[in-house]
Amino acid sequence: MIYLDFQATTPVDDDVANVVDKATRELWANPSSPHMAGMRSQEAIGNARRRMSKLLGCRPHELYFTSGATEANNWAVSMVGAEPKNHIVTTTTEHKSMLDACRAFQRRGGDLTVLPVNSRGFVNPDELRRVIKPATRLVSVMAANNETGALQPIPEIAEVTRDAGVPLHTDATQAVGYVIKDFTQLPADLISFSGHKIYGPKGAGALYISERLQASSKIPSLLHGGGQEGGRRPGTENLPAILGFARALELSRVTYSSERERVKELKNEFWNLLSEQVPSVVRNSPVDSCLPNCLNIRIPGVDAGELMAAIPQIAISAGSACNSNDQQPSHVLLAMGLTADEARTSIRIGFGRATTAEEVRDAAKAISVVVSHLKVG
Ligand code: PMP
Repeated sequence: MIYLDFQATTPVDDDVANVVDKATRELWANPSSPHMAGMRSQEAIGNARRRMSKLLGCRPHELYFTSGATEANNWAVSMVGAEPKNHIVTTTTEHKSMLDACRAFQRRGGDLTVLPVNSRGFVNPDELRRVIKPATRLVSVMAANNETGALQPIPEIAEVTRDAGVPLHTDATQAVGYVIKDFTQLPADLISFSGHKIYGPKGAGALYISERLQASSKIPSLLHGGGQEGGRRPGTENLPAILGFARALELSRVTYSSERERVKELKNEFWNLLSEQVPSVVRNSPVDSCLPNCLNIRIPGVDAGELMAAIPQIAISAGSACNSNDQQPSHVLLAMGLTADEARTSIRIGFGRATTAEEVRDAAKAISVVVSHLKVG
């Protein structure tokens, strides 16, 4: 198999797997238990939180562990009470976990604005400025799109929200560890990210809640129960996954710059080869302001499902993995102005730590062979 679906998930790093395994075997005591074994578990979580916050340039008490970015996104939205006077702004190309949480807020009676994007997938900070109202309680714009890799201009967006005095949330799930080294690059009050996109375990994520926001407003708890995560996200901690998540973040730091350059070259190489062999291929991803490891393309006349079925040994994706069970064309590509037919001919190729130049060549070749067969057929 040639795995080129690194936006869907990443393989767990061996070192991370060892950390998870060791913690599973040795640190099984309940971190809330007051005995020595429990205290050891508690210390291990505290240590993971401290190491992560140091790397991310924030304070330990600003990081709340969750089960992943879906939960972190839902929590951010749930902080706004769904009264008709409360307004949230988000964008058309957010991950479903943000868009659907916002639509649920709207169904409960909240006021929602979904900002459009341009044909390259970017929101316009001036348009955001125009839609903010006195009742706006939250603006949420993702840092990097999981289908196209488009990087939103978060610093400019943050200027707008700062001027308006509105908290900014950003879903940085695809950005942390790739284009975002630490949160000084993301001037937001709330940031979601996830372990399994950075070679860490599934079921571990976090929501950063800035000290400023914690001081200025009452942060509603996501769940009710015990005192874990400051009582705001109770439930016995997934300790092995949290420890693995922390290790994965550390490892991403080691390879941050070199990996970014390497995957960018692989992406360029893939694009050059494919466009030589299939001249009709069109790039949906923006060339600039794009994740280095993500490429979304379309091949006119070639259905993405048929293409993927013809090369099952190559793991690529049509849109987001989370939506692959529904046959609807990608909401992200439609929002960029593509027709439903164009969206159905689109695929996403993701490059990662394990990807080699040979795999890139083989994948481009395999796709071009299938395209010529499908077109003839
Ligand atoms: N946001 C984005 C941008 C994502 O790519 C994903 C994962 N596909 C999520 C949120 C959800 O993350 P998780 O799987 O950790 O719930």
